[in-house]
Amino acid sequence: MARVLYLGGLGRSGTTLVERLLGELPSVCALGEVVHLWQRDILDNERCGCGSRFTGCTFWKRVGDKAFGGWANVDVQRVHALRDLVERTRHIPRLAAGHMAMDQVKEYANFYAKVYAAAAEVSGAKVVVDSSKHSALAHVLRWADDVDLRVVHVVRDARGVAYSWTKTIARPETDGEEEMTRYSPGRSALLWNAHNAAFGLLARRGVPVRRVRYEEFLTDPRAALIHLAEFAGLTLQPADLDFLKTGHADLRVGHSAAGNPMRFTVGRLPLRRDDAWVNKLPPAQRRLVGAVCAPMLRAYGYPLQQKEA
Ligand SMILES: [Zn+2]
Repeated sequence: MARVLYLGGLGRSGTTLVERLLGELPSVCALGEVVHLWQRDILDNERCGCGSRFTGCTFWKRVGDKAFGGWANVDVQRVHALRDLVERTRHIPRLAAGHMAMDQVKEYANFYAKVYAAAAEVSGAKVVVDSSKHSALAHVLRWADDVDLRVVHVVRDARGVAYSWTKTIARPETDGEEEMTRYSPGRSALLWNAHNAAFGLLARRGVPVRRVRYEEFLTDPRAALIHLAEFAGLTLQPADLDFLKTGHADLRVGHSAAGNPMRFTVGRLPLRRDDAWVNKLPPAQRRLVGAVCAPMLRAYGYPLQQKEA
């Protein structure tokens, strides 16, 4: 049974950063956002975190051979059809209650389970990390037969998330042809509520969920990683965290299949909180997001009146 650490949370909450640091731990293999593997890698042959095209990456080739006898044997149309049927935010209440076509849920989850098991075997890792983020996929994976699912719920101040969604970011894996999606602050505030609530529901259904605040994680990355390693059932030696330096981490090459451009970073990764929103998110938008997200911001311990910097 593959032990999977699933990084969940709304996009721009810091999941890629958490994944990159987890990926440096021995016995951990970080896979990126596996939810995008089917389209962006198998069909579109985008770049792996190692810089190679998907078909040129030895790691992923071995995973595909082991999981499916080669990626060509994956019926991507079927994966997408199943995703449309089961992996939708609106289905979460029914997924949580088990009131879905469970054969379809299991068939879809099984595609992921095969990737996880193969990646664990090829890498020799005890734990694989999937940073797909989507709450609906976490609810689907709960029903997989052979996945030991543990969810790391990454939360960031909704106003920082909203500001980040208003910025333009290119996607280097497509050689600059596309940009990442943008959302208005009102839209991202609603998404923030929905996705964070969904992870709370997952925990109430008995899935091990460990909540991590982005801001806290960056205040003491060492303590945070020790905590997460323990949650993943790993025992660390002090030297295992030597890649953490003062104010930055030294990263090796990874094989993230898809996700935030940070997945391409090799070498020095600054470990700094991005608090740009405190100065740059316009006051009206800050009030809007603060009002829409107030109950959960409060529950997570975020001050509603942010100091002006
Ligand atoms: Zn690679």
